[in-house]
Amino acid sequence: MKNHTYIYADNSATTPLAPEALEAMMPFLTKDYYNASSLYSLSRTAKDALSEARSIIATCIGALPEEILFTSGGTESDNWAIKGRMISGRILASRIEHHAVLNSLSFSSYFPHGAARLLPVDRFGFVSSKTLESFLSNRVSLVSVMLANNEIGTIEPVKELAEISHHHKTLFHTDAVQAVGHIPVDVNELGIDFLSASAHKFHGPKGIGFLFHKKDVGLDKFMDGGQQEFGLRAGTENVASIVGMASALRVCCEQMASNSRKLKDMVICFKEIIRNALPQASFNGDSVNRLPGHISLSIPGISGEGLLHFLDLRGIAVSTGAACNSKSTRISHVLKAIHLPSNLANGTVRISFGMYNKKSDADYVAQAIIDYCRKVKF
Ligand code: PLP
Repeated sequence: MKNHTYIYADNSATTPLAPEALEAMMPFLTKDYYNASSLYSLSRTAKDALSEARSIIATCIGALPEEILFTSGGTESDNWAIKGRMISGRILASRIEHHAVLNSLSFSSYFPHGAARLLPVDRFGFVSSKTLESFLSNRVSLVSVMLANNEIGTIEPVKELAEISHHHKTLFHTDAVQAVGHIPVDVNELGIDFLSASAHKFHGPKGIGFLFHKKDVGLDKFMDGGQQEFGLRAGTENVASIVGMASALRVCCEQMASNSRKLKDMVICFKEIIRNALPQASFNGDSVNRLPGHISLSIPGISGEGLLHFLDLRGIAVSTGAACNSKSTRISHVLKAIHLPSNLANGTVRISFGMYNKKSDADYVAQAIIDYCRKVKF
């Protein structure tokens, strides 16, 4: 999205709020501020809005309303799914999961089934069925593989992986934070038991998300207190944000096909310009099964952080794949897991266009990257 002269190309980090979501939220931030759990008639609007939002979200992902639990976002949903299964057995997760999953695994070594195990990925970031099969045993209680990776954009074969897990009587969780609202997601079609999502990744407000949990699949309570969220997650409901999340998801789902087409065209145009000017550059993740609008670009011999600051001065926001401090460069666990050589990893930037970007943004960002490479005598 262009804000004055700024081009925001970091939609994998967060997205701007959809105007429809803001409009839907406003009454609940002003006149309809009542507690949705109160018994008097003033609360009726909030209560009804909450159940309508649950139904809208459920419809968007092919779930039942009672299978949707509101949380504070992707991090909480991941923590809930992972920690909720730890007592029942070992957890398997891919090496390229978000830290919300990876750091949730750290407690598992205290349980009798032993530490969680990490599934390796290939150079595109895929977890293969063969790999999963070789890690599964009757000690495993949950497999967690993300639907789409935030850094390299690869979409995992979740349907296949969930099927294999179920064959071994193991439940399956997917972190779909980057996928929901951007690619079609149907929980029945995917055959999964748990799914995490976060509103701010699909043009909803920050600090709100949901966990899908399949009916009849046991899930431990996450927060003690009142009886909100079917007695599983206590705390006064964040009605305005929940309503905003549902509205944003509906907008994204309604416009998904056209947004996706536009974003794919933008990526094709961007790649062509880069390939022509910088033949040494390469793109990470799978080229077909990937998030629309998502680009992970590696340019050998440059600093991704240097490029980020140059682009920032040009009014363009992107992220890097390696974080530098004065003493060292830390390459992300995802780029390490796909065995990207360090000269490429250090020169990696993530460009993620979203539904409010203009087609011309792809050309502008690509040209700015080329300018930087010429400036540093690439
Ligand atoms: N999972 C993935 C794949 C993410 O990209 C993120 C956020 O970047 C999260 C989880 C955490 O979500 P939230 O910011 O809503 O806590």
